[in-house]
Amino acid sequence: MTLAFLGHDMNPPPVHRVARVTGCLGETEGGFLHNGSYWQESDTLRVTFRPEFLVLQGLDAVQEARVLRHEEQHRVDFVELAERLERGLRTALRQRRDPEIDHRWEWFLYDIANRANQFHRSSGQGETINVAEPHFPRPV
Ligand SMILES: [Zn+2]
Repeated sequence: MTLAFLGHDMNPPPVHRVARVTGCLGETEGGFLHNGSYWQESDTLRVTFRPEFLVLQGLDAVQEARVLRHEEQHRVDFVELAERLERGLRTALRQRRDPEIDHRWEWFLYDIANRANQFHRSSGQGETINVAEPHFPRPV
Protein backbone atom coordinates (compact mmCIF):
# COMPACT_ATOMS: atom_id res chain seq x y z
CA MET A 1 0.00 0.00 0.00
CA THR A 2 1.23 3.49 -0.77
CA LEU A 3 0.37 6.73 1.00
CA ALA A 4 -0.86 9.97 -0.57
CA PHE A 5 -0.80 12.59 2.19
CA LEU A 6 -1.82 16.01 0.91
CA GLY A 7 -2.93 19.50 1.82
CA HIS A 8 -1.77 19.86 5.43
CA ASP A 9 1.04 22.27 4.55
CA MET A 10 -1.08 24.76 2.58
CA ASN A 11 0.08 28.15 3.87
CA PRO A 12 -1.68 30.43 4.16
CA PRO A 13 -5.04 28.73 4.04
CA PRO A 14 -8.02 30.73 2.79
CA VAL A 15 -9.89 33.02 5.22
CA HIS A 16 -13.67 32.69 5.19
CA ARG A 17 -15.84 35.31 6.88
CA VAL A 18 -18.89 33.64 8.39
CA ALA A 19 -22.04 34.71 10.24
CA ARG A 20 -21.40 32.09 12.91
CA VAL A 21 -18.29 30.17 13.87
CA THR A 22 -19.11 26.53 14.55
CA GLY A 23 -17.17 23.33 14.92
CA CYS A 24 -14.07 25.04 16.31
CA LEU A 25 -13.74 23.67 19.85
CA GLY A 26 -15.88 26.31 21.48
CA GLU A 27 -14.39 29.32 19.70
CA THR A 28 -16.88 31.96 18.58
CA GLU A 29 -14.90 34.75 16.86
CA GLY A 30 -12.65 32.64 14.70
CA GLY A 31 -11.50 29.16 14.05
CA PHE A 32 -9.09 26.93 12.22
CA LEU A 33 -10.47 23.85 10.44
CA HIS A 34 -8.24 21.24 8.81
CA ASN A 35 -11.20 19.50 7.08
CA GLY A 36 -9.25 16.30 6.98
CA SER A 37 -10.47 12.96 5.69
CA TYR A 38 -9.00 9.64 4.67
CA TRP A 39 -10.02 6.75 2.49
CA GLN A 40 -8.50 3.81 0.72
CA GLU A 41 -8.52 3.65 -3.04
CA SER A 42 -7.27 0.39 -4.55
CA ASP A 43 -3.74 0.16 -3.14
CA THR A 44 -3.41 3.77 -1.97
CA LEU A 45 -4.25 5.20 1.42
CA ARG A 46 -5.32 8.80 0.81
CA VAL A 47 -5.19 11.42 3.57
CA THR A 48 -6.33 14.86 2.48
CA PHE A 49 -6.70 18.20 4.27
CA ARG A 50 -8.34 21.43 3.15
CA PRO A 51 -7.30 23.90 5.85
CA GLU A 52 -9.25 27.13 6.30
CA PHE A 53 -9.57 29.96 8.76
CA LEU A 54 -13.01 31.13 9.83
CA VAL A 55 -13.51 34.71 11.02
CA LEU A 56 -16.74 36.12 12.36
CA GLN A 57 -18.25 38.74 10.08
CA GLY A 58 -18.38 42.27 11.44
CA LEU A 59 -15.08 42.32 13.34
CA ASP A 60 -12.94 45.39 12.72
CA ALA A 61 -9.46 45.07 11.23
CA VAL A 62 -7.72 45.06 14.62
CA GLN A 63 -10.03 42.39 16.03
CA GLU A 64 -9.70 40.30 12.90
CA ALA A 65 -5.90 40.47 13.02
CA ARG A 66 -5.98 39.39 16.68
CA VAL A 67 -8.28 36.46 15.86
CA LEU A 68 -6.10 35.34 12.94
CA ARG A 69 -2.94 35.51 15.08
CA HIS A 70 -4.63 33.18 17.54
CA GLU A 71 -5.84 30.80 14.82
CA GLU A 72 -2.39 30.74 13.22
CA GLN A 73 -1.06 29.08 16.36
CA HIS A 74 -3.72 26.37 15.97
CA ARG A 75 -2.59 25.94 12.35
CA VAL A 76 1.07 25.59 13.33
CA ASP A 77 0.17 22.99 15.97
CA PHE A 78 -1.96 21.12 13.44
CA VAL A 79 0.87 21.00 10.87
CA GLU A 80 3.25 19.53 13.44
CA LEU A 81 0.72 16.86 14.45
CA ALA A 82 -0.16 16.10 10.81
CA GLU A 83 3.54 15.59 10.04
CA ARG A 84 3.76 13.21 12.99
CA LEU A 85 0.71 11.33 11.65
CA GLU A 86 2.34 11.10 8.22
CA ARG A 87 5.62 9.79 9.67
CA GLY A 88 3.74 7.13 11.66
CA LEU A 89 1.81 6.01 8.60
CA ARG A 90 4.92 5.90 6.40
CA THR A 91 6.86 3.90 8.96
CA ALA A 92 4.05 1.36 9.37
CA LEU A 93 3.65 0.95 5.61
CA ARG A 94 7.40 0.66 5.07
CA GLN A 95 7.48 -2.12 7.67
CA ARG A 96 4.49 -3.72 5.96
CA ARG A 97 2.32 -3.32 9.03
CA ASP A 98 -1.34 -2.36 9.18
CA PRO A 99 -1.29 1.47 9.22
CA GLU A 100 -4.20 1.38 11.73
CA ILE A 101 -5.53 4.57 10.21
CA ASP A 102 -8.82 4.51 12.16
CA HIS A 103 -7.00 4.40 15.48
CA ARG A 104 -4.25 6.80 14.42
CA TRP A 105 -6.86 9.28 13.27
CA GLU A 106 -8.70 9.25 16.63
CA TRP A 107 -5.41 9.88 18.44
CA PHE A 108 -4.57 12.65 15.97
CA LEU A 109 -7.91 14.41 16.72
CA TYR A 110 -7.33 13.91 20.42
CA ASP A 111 -3.83 15.41 20.18
CA ILE A 112 -5.16 18.45 18.30
CA ALA A 113 -7.79 19.11 20.96
CA ASN A 114 -5.22 18.62 23.71
CA ARG A 115 -2.77 20.99 22.04
CA ALA A 116 -5.53 23.60 21.69
CA ASN A 117 -6.23 23.29 25.40
CA GLN A 118 -2.54 23.78 26.22
CA PHE A 119 -2.38 26.88 24.03
CA HIS A 120 -5.55 28.32 25.55
CA ARG A 121 -4.30 27.76 29.08
CA SER A 122 -0.87 29.25 28.40
CA SER A 123 -2.19 32.28 26.47
CA GLY A 124 -5.25 32.90 28.64
CA GLN A 125 -7.35 33.04 25.44
CA GLY A 126 -10.06 30.57 24.55
CA GLU A 127 -11.81 27.81 26.38
CA THR A 128 -10.59 24.48 27.63
CA ILE A 129 -12.58 21.60 26.18
CA ASN A 130 -12.81 18.22 27.83
CA VAL A 131 -11.61 15.57 25.44
CA ALA A 132 -11.72 11.87 26.23
CA GLU A 133 -8.63 9.83 25.49
CA PRO A 134 -9.29 7.16 22.83
CA HIS A 135 -10.08 3.83 24.49
CA PHE A 136 -7.50 1.92 22.45
CA PRO A 137 -3.70 2.09 22.56
CA ARG A 138 -1.85 4.68 20.49
CA PRO A 139 -0.47 2.92 17.35
CA VAL A 140 3.34 2.91 17.23
ZN1 LIG B 1 -8.07 28.85 20.12
